[in-house]
Amino acid sequence: MTILLSTLNARYTHASLGLRYLLANLGELQAETSILEFVIGAKTADLVERILARKPRIVGFGVYIWNVEETAKLVAMLKRVAPEVTVVLGGPEVSHETAEQQIVKEADYVVTGWGDKTFPKLCAQILNGPQPLMKIHAGEQPPMEQIRLPYDLYSADDIAHRTIYVEASRGCPFKCEFCLSSLDKTAWPFPLDAFLEQMESLYQRGARLFKFVDRTFNLNVKTSQRILQFFLEKLQANPHDPVYAHFELVPDHLPDALKDSIAQFPAGALQFEIGIQSFNPEVQALVSRRQNNEKAADNIRWLHQHSHAHLHIDLIAGLPGEDVDSFARGFDHLVSLGPHEIQFGILKRLRGTPIIRHTGPYKMAYDPNPPYTILATDRIDFPTMQRLVRFARYWDLVANSGRFGNTVKRLLGDQPFANFMAFSDWMYTKTDATHRIALDRLATLVRQWLEERGMPASEAAELLASDYAGRIDSHAATPKQKAAAPERQVRHLAA
Ligand code: SF4
Repeated sequence: MTILLSTLNARYTHASLGLRYLLANLGELQAETSILEFVIGAKTADLVERILARKPRIVGFGVYIWNVEETAKLVAMLKRVAPEVTVVLGGPEVSHETAEQQIVKEADYVVTGWGDKTFPKLCAQILNGPQPLMKIHAGEQPPMEQIRLPYDLYSADDIAHRTIYVEASRGCPFKCEFCLSSLDKTAWPFPLDAFLEQMESLYQRGARLFKFVDRTFNLNVKTSQRILQFFLEKLQANPHDPVYAHFELVPDHLPDALKDSIAQFPAGALQFEIGIQSFNPEVQALVSRRQNNEKAADNIRWLHQHSHAHLHIDLIAGLPGEDVDSFARGFDHLVSLGPHEIQFGILKRLRGTPIIRHTGPYKMAYDPNPPYTILATDRIDFPTMQRLVRFARYWDLVANSGRFGNTVKRLLGDQPFANFMAFSDWMYTKTDATHRIALDRLATLVRQWLEERGMPASEAAELLASDYAGRIDSHAATPKQKAAAPERQVRHLAA
């Protein structure tokens, strides 16, 4: 095998779309190229052994925020054992600030940005000469119709067992400074007919779980409607073998035509991930996020009341200008709109993002190690940030898990943020942990907390039992929906 394309996915179920794009666009080199995917957490030496067993001349690695540390070790070991193998890096984590990265020093070449055309050209040069002089190659962005779509490269096994990632467009026209997509000039759509043909082929091959990675699915309403129509027809033709689709929406843009399409979907067929990030207008202005808060709230309310879509809304703590009180107000407002899940994320400083301009003025201290999480700002000190991190973790375990649907409503009461923060602080004193808490123990702790807050023991037990008995309200995600949920903040911000 001449070329091996590899990456470390966060989970086995995440099939790499990036590697499949590279393979699809390799032209005559495609026949001598294969993909070898790993999952983070494996032993580096084992990975090196498996790579070398394929006898590659070139190995291309996809490098992301979730795998950069392990990939750096892998590249270093690979180059020690087999220095004759040429290592080419690509992906968002090595597309910016390349000079200071150890992994870049260890590698032979780096392709920054889009690799669809530049990676094949670089490989041809490495194989046939003359050898490329430069280490860093800026990815060329071709017209979208020149990029070969990769969907026939999903294997039968991928379709049966993994999430199928697809994209109808790349890029984003918005400029939120914490997000890598803010560096894009606009959004570029793929030719829609060709894209839908590929979706049809995936569907005919058995794909039923489609995750769109488009940054803003609802930018062009006509395109969004055609894509929704595609899925609606599948659902109507085959209601007993339903298809499920996940999209990212901008919250303040939901024209009636789109609402009409969304309202036709039955339960369990649609999931929307909606970024709010902050409801604080001053914070929004600081990070250049244009958002009409009133419209966004109206649209979330409408989706909650008039559609069956599962709503997953993102908030980010630790943005410049945000203190705990203003974050708490945004959180409470969001809870009142009734989303099914709130992703409580902690800000990460992604390489290349313009948010770095606030580091000095707002005393933003970030962890120097991936995923570069914010540790403190001028408004939130380190101990308080730690409390917010624990809040996020317990929120996932108790609220987002859907296991305590009835109980959570009582636990939150009329001051959701303050009440859950008190619960979170108490949980930490009781467990000294935020991981590896068995479900039974978690339920016992939740019950104890309710009792400490004055709920009669019998009522608390009954409330917990109502969740345990499976009578969780309709907001709880189905197992299929859970399977579709990626590490959203990181994917959303990094991909
Ligand atoms: S956060 Fe969302 S809307 Fe803002 S730039 Fe990134 S992808 Fe675009």
